[in-house]
Amino acid sequence: MNPSPLLFDVHLDLAMNALEWNRDLRGSLESVRRREQHLKDRPDRGNGVVTFPEMRRGRMGLCVATQIARTVDRFSRMPGWASPEQAWAQTQGQLAWYREMESQGELRQIRDRSGLERHLTDWSAEGATPKAIGYILSLEGADSIVTPAHLERAYSQGLRAVGLTHYGPGRCGGGTDDDQPLTPFGRELLAEVERLGMILDVTHLCDASFRDALDRFGGPVWASHSNCRTLADWNRQFTDEQIRELVARDAVIGVAVDAIMLVHGWRHLKSTPAEFQLTLERVADHIDHVCQIAGNANHVGIGSDADGAFGTEQMPQDLQSIADLQRLVGILGRRGYTQPDIEGIFSGNFLGFLRRVWS
Ligand SMILES: [Zn+2]
Repeated sequence: MNPSPLLFDVHLDLAMNALEWNRDLRGSLESVRRREQHLKDRPDRGNGVVTFPEMRRGRMGLCVATQIARTVDRFSRMPGWASPEQAWAQTQGQLAWYREMESQGELRQIRDRSGLERHLTDWSAEGATPKAIGYILSLEGADSIVTPAHLERAYSQGLRAVGLTHYGPGRCGGGTDDDQPLTPFGRELLAEVERLGMILDVTHLCDASFRDALDRFGGPVWASHSNCRTLADWNRQFTDEQIRELVARDAVIGVAVDAIMLVHGWRHLKSTPAEFQLTLERVADHIDHVCQIAGNANHVGIGSDADGAFGTEQMPQDLQSIADLQRLVGILGRRGYTQPDIEGIFSGNFLGFLRRVWS
């Protein structure tokens, strides 16, 4: 039997979980869940699926991990900081947690081609599961970038990918559920992303800002956690036309496991996975839809978002740990995907993307 393929998950909010959910990711899943038994402050309490030991068990040797902090204006009902300076400080706190995990050998920051290759060599040794999980730092929504000069500082800290927006209107333009193009500040920042050779993450752009950003940006583009609107009708997901455009730009799209992004008609905080008989087969449907549009299996990967403020209450029922993503090997295999296809989806497509960008 072949060993499980290396898994490269291109979207996890590890530091947000550590510092806002107060999860010590070094422990077992059971220990994290037990600590939350009495908590009712968030809908996913006790339902988490991500810890470092579970990532290793699922052969997740590498991930893209976020800094995330939004700002909102004073009339907004969405959560967020009152100023970019506070949001910046929040992301710097998240960075301090990543650094501490690096110093303990739990994580290893990957910031260039040679570091990537060295890390992959460690993880490719037969039967080896090294302790250090590689992570590439990404920013989910750029409200926290106080001035363009802060982006250069963030780059020097290892930041390699930037999403300009998150939910609703932001400092850079329209995010999910909004309908505005980029703001003047967003356009200025986008030019800085390109100048620094960073990756533009187009996840969470609304249709207007997606159009605006792609028209202006000449650098590398990926989508860290985005699904197909044809299969889950909401502007959070890409239309077939948008997927076609991303494929034409040699982008790779990470498919997410969030139920609300997988099926039509999911009602947030009301629907259950059982009602939809939701399994990882549905994740494979989204992977397959991207492949059918592309005409090959080279433009899709996994950006699970499996710790993105939801847990098992909003996930496929056969995903009780991040390690269960390995079940996709069998599911895709039964659909006729070859082993090289599956290895590409699990890691190779995004690794190839990074090798091109960092060559
Ligand atoms: Zn997100």
